Amino acid sequence: MTPNPQEPSFRDSVDIMFNRAVALMDLPPGLEEKIRVCNATYTVRFGVRLRGKIQTFTGYRSVHSEHMEPVKGGIRYSMAVNQDEVEALAALMTYKCALVDAPFGGSKGGLCIDPREYDEYELELITRRFAYELIKRDLINPAQNVPAPDMGTGEREMAWIADQYKRMNTTDINGVACVTGKPINAGGIQGRTEATGRGVQYALHAFFRDKEGLKKAGLTGGLEGKRVIVQGLGNVGYHAAKFLSEEDGCKVIGVIEYNGAVYDEKGINIEALKTYINHSGSPDGFPGATFTTNGAEMLEEDCDILIPAALEGVINLGNAARIKAPLIIEAANGPVTAGADDILREKGCVIVPDMYANAGGVTVSYFEWVKNLSHIRFGRMQRRQEETRHQLIVDELERISRDTSISWTLSPNFKEKYLRGAGELELVRSGLDDTMSDAYRTMAEVWHGRDDVTDLRTAAYLVSIGKVAQSYRAKGL
Ligand code: GLU
Repeated sequence: MTPNPQEPSFRDSVDIMFNRAVALMDLPPGLEEKIRVCNATYTVRFGVRLRGKIQTFTGYRSVHSEHMEPVKGGIRYSMAVNQDEVEALAALMTYKCALVDAPFGGSKGGLCIDPREYDEYELELITRRFAYELIKRDLINPAQNVPAPDMGTGEREMAWIADQYKRMNTTDINGVACVTGKPINAGGIQGRTEATGRGVQYALHAFFRDKEGLKKAGLTGGLEGKRVIVQGLGNVGYHAAKFLSEEDGCKVIGVIEYNGAVYDEKGINIEALKTYINHSGSPDGFPGATFTTNGAEMLEEDCDILIPAALEGVINLGNAARIKAPLIIEAANGPVTAGADDILREKGCVIVPDMYANAGGVTVSYFEWVKNLSHIRFGRMQRRQEETRHQLIVDELERISRDTSISWTLSPNFKEKYLRGAGELELVRSGLDDTMSDAYRTMAEVWHGRDDVTDLRTAAYLVSIGKVAQSYRAKGL
């Protein structure tokens, strides 16, 4: 499809949305521009000897705002990576971190590469060389700039980056905190891989508790039975769709992948579909569902909740008017362009914005960074003591029941559930749930409380820009 000439770039889209929000704020002169602009973008071109010749790669690390340090944001591997995209994503990281109170500035990195073209050994060489270039300029550093996974990267790449940093900084006791999203055995934290998808689920829980918000979307009831369409069954889309269908009773009726989409109005078993795609490389032929090669059209199908969890700009001037979903939750970064956002708002569609909806990843990254700096697993000091105190209560209840004539018993599983102290995964999930509920509440207060704010995205920007402005003020700027 030829891009619409009216469609602004991703970077411009983010700025348009930012400008809409600051127009409603009373910031000191000039501060608005200071917050909006990207502080610096570093471009690196480096060579790696592969398959008998030197191949040159181009990578970026952009720092949007250093009102808090370290700055934080993932590293993406994709052929579509460019400066405009990295800067837009870095800006979103600033607003995202501020919104969920993760004490970081915003940053993002990208390497222009198709990771499927290389084997594991080659990817390690390329990743280590890219990391080397960034580390020697302090663009990876536990106190200054902490990357994480993004599209095309995962815990394997993060482990290589952490190891590369350790090799170059052998005496830095906090070295492992130079990157998050690492595997557990390399300093990672339980629940980081599922975190962004889990955050999407918690964001929907928060939305469905907000009666006024539901009314604005024209929805009623809870998540049970709601018809969901997901675009992208990568890490984020897969976990969101899995948790919503397995735990909340949603019916995932459509899944869009890179080469087409599957549809089943009875609801798709996400685990089975994922296994099928892992084996056959495509959802085509998945039993019980119909496959269509025109995946983009599935975005326009009738459903209750649309979850774009893949690329930016997929809902744009070309298709926004035909989108039927009353509720869109942006699991990807920037899936709705500024132009599409206008059309959808006009139609009354409610959009749960990316900077909130997909903030689960960076929230759990924050927990991982804190764990790395404190050098102790969450729950290690308290768990046994908590279990002992719970045991005291259960023993006492049982004694009372024996010593009194009233006959009663504890409900089945109560003892097992109550006695078990929280491990790291439970603590991470509860910290994430709390963060997502809190951030929703602050956004919703603005959304419902101000007549000049008619959508959640503007409310989210108002909250986060307000917090960034406060940081600058506190620094004396
Ligand atoms: N890449 C993820 C994002 O876009 C995670 C960033 C992080 O954990 O620093 O939010």
